[in-house]
Amino acid sequence: MLRKPIIVGNWKMNGSSEMLNSFMDELVPMLNERVESGLAVPYTLLWPLGERAEAIDFRVGAQNMHYEEKGAYTGELSASMIIEAKADTVIIGHSERRTYYNETDESVNAKLKSALKNKILPIVCCGESLEQREAGEAKSVTEKQVKAALMEIPKEDAIKIVIAYEPIWAIGTGKTASSQDAEDMASHIRGIVKDLYDDKTADSIRIQYGGSVKPANVKDIMSMPNIDGALVGGASLKAEDFIKLLRFYE
Ligand code: PEP
Repeated sequence: MLRKPIIVGNWKMNGSSEMLNSFMDELVPMLNERVESGLAVPYTLLWPLGERAEAIDFRVGAQNMHYEEKGAYTGELSASMIIEAKADTVIIGHSERRTYYNETDESVNAKLKSALKNKILPIVCCGESLEQREAGEAKSVTEKQVKAALMEIPKEDAIKIVIAYEPIWAIGTGKTASSQDAEDMASHIRGIVKDLYDDKTADSIRIQYGGSVKPANVKDIMSMPNIDGALVGGASLKAEDFIKLLRFYE
């Protein structure tokens, strides 16, 4: 099964409409059809990014959303709200949200169900901390996260999900997992999907690696058979670097 590579930037709490406009001015002429691409921006930039992306094939991502459709959840946005702001993609369960905002396996699962119901592409993050890796728990921790995220998700929906394997110790630290370690974990995750569903689902689902991906290491990472893309923080803030990531095959 040929899985289309997907590379998405995560701007986190960075950026402005001015930065977005000059970024897109540089990026758009360099986009190519071999790679699905997009940016997960702060909520305030969804609409302007959506306007810029209207005529092109480029994903407009939110970095979070609430699992309920509406209600007394001060400060939150629902799936239909981010769609109204022009998003078509959402990051769910990023380790920063799990660490700082009490995101749990249960809320990740609820958000995933809501994203799928609303036809938003979900990028679900999983990955172990340094202590867990050093204790030999990387695979078991990730397995627990993936199984909990996919709980009660039918197989016809499972193939629409992107899973991002993001070892916490590699995020924003400049430390990248070796491409072989990243591949071993991606292959492990594909095996979990196979056990939960079947060969076809495991073959179809796309798995990204995230953690200090940059122009210097993207080719190596993308050459791994089970890695279908990247979720990129720091290196997605400069158009010049992000363009190099999207053209990793050159
Ligand atoms: C991320 O935030 O998902 C990430 C991978 O960040 P960085 O590329 O900066 O490590």
